[in-house]
Amino acid sequence: MQFLSSLPMFDPALAALLQAEEEKQRDSIRLIASENFASAAVREACGSVLTNKYSEGYPGARYYEGQQIVDQVERLAMARARLIFNAEHVNVQPYSGSPANLAAYLAFVRPGDTVMGMRLAHGGHLTHGSRASITGKYWNIASYELDPHTGLLDYDLIRTKALQHRPKLLIAGHSAYPRQLDFAAFRKIADEIGAPLLVDMAHIAGLVAGGAHPSPIPYADVVTTTTHKTLRGPRGAMIMCRAEHASKIDKAVFPGLQGGPHNNTTAAIAVALHEAAQPDFAEYAKQCVLNAQALGRGLLERGFTLVTGGTDNHLLLIDLRKKGLPGKAVAEALDRAGLVANYNSVPWDDRPPQDPSGIRLGSPAMTTRGFGEKEFLQIAEWIDRIVASGLDDVTIFQVGGEVRELCRSFPMP
Ligand SMILES: *Cc1c(COP(=O)(O)O)cnc(C)c1O
Repeated sequence: MQFLSSLPMFDPALAALLQAEEEKQRDSIRLIASENFASAAVREACGSVLTNKYSEGYPGARYYEGQQIVDQVERLAMARARLIFNAEHVNVQPYSGSPANLAAYLAFVRPGDTVMGMRLAHGGHLTHGSRASITGKYWNIASYELDPHTGLLDYDLIRTKALQHRPKLLIAGHSAYPRQLDFAAFRKIADEIGAPLLVDMAHIAGLVAGGAHPSPIPYADVVTTTTHKTLRGPRGAMIMCRAEHASKIDKAVFPGLQGGPHNNTTAAIAVALHEAAQPDFAEYAKQCVLNAQALGRGLLERGFTLVTGGTDNHLLLIDLRKKGLPGKAVAEALDRAGLVANYNSVPWDDRPPQDPSGIRLGSPAMTTRGFGEKEFLQIAEWIDRIVASGLDDVTIFQVGGEVRELCRSFPMP
């Protein structure tokens, strides 16, 4: 591409930073559950001439001229999404997952209405009603929590809470819950209280596309998703909904919340969806789950505690309380060894969110690079070695060498 040669000439300082980041990504094992490696094709579409074009509105109904090609790009992305997810309507314009969720709020509830989602500290997302988010300030939030005995979602408890608070919008979806969701159970609760059901599948969209997780589409009124997590596309989002809600959702995105769509992102979403329709994507999705389960087995065998006891998706939550080490210090030590994860609250954490008791791990990024169960079992061994050493410098240095060595055999896309 053109910019690859022009950037180092025109802006060597920025080009050097990009080069350094590329090397960092190449030489480390990325276990952040929300991250992935987008293909060169996706990144080319992102960096294309479509960034030059303004196109407020929707295909066939724009406020700017010159949309002959852009309309086809957006229609292609929409058609591919409808096909893969079997959705009646799709909007590919939200700038990211958080604005997509805000658009769903705008479409279905008025400020002050009650909304019910999963508590952030129990695995929900900021935009599901955290007090730090606009959603927790403009709406009255009643969060549901995990069952304290099992660490699992208990649908009877959610139902009881829903009947008590009567939310005008029910949200299912998570950023840190390692189990499958029972969308039929959520649908039943939504019907009982007469509220629309929003499923936020940001984390699991790729698993759903690849057939490795049940689809929420038949059950939800509206489904939001990011496109850059397990779906492996550009940073962006989509909203899918039943035909009856199409106009409400479209108006909420534009002109409700946004101006012109990022056409370069739309093009890259189309590419990612084309990739997701290939047979090897189903293999990848299945392997994400197998790899996360292998990592979980390796950790359990070494005496680690996992929230819910394991995983049936792409992520794991280690509860470090029994190991007597805080999450932040462990995440920093792992990072120094090239094992990049994030510290995370565990349910009923007695430590603050800035320094919680857990670590979240995910398989998608390294599955994309070709890691299998063998490599994920090796990661469990490395994590254990570092934790068992009490975060000893020499051990971290030794593991770091082995990590870089393994990365060399699994090139970045
Ligand atoms: C990541 C995530 C989002 C937000 O996506 P951004 O693109 O970071 O704004 C929303 N919901 C859930 C469940 C997520 O995991």
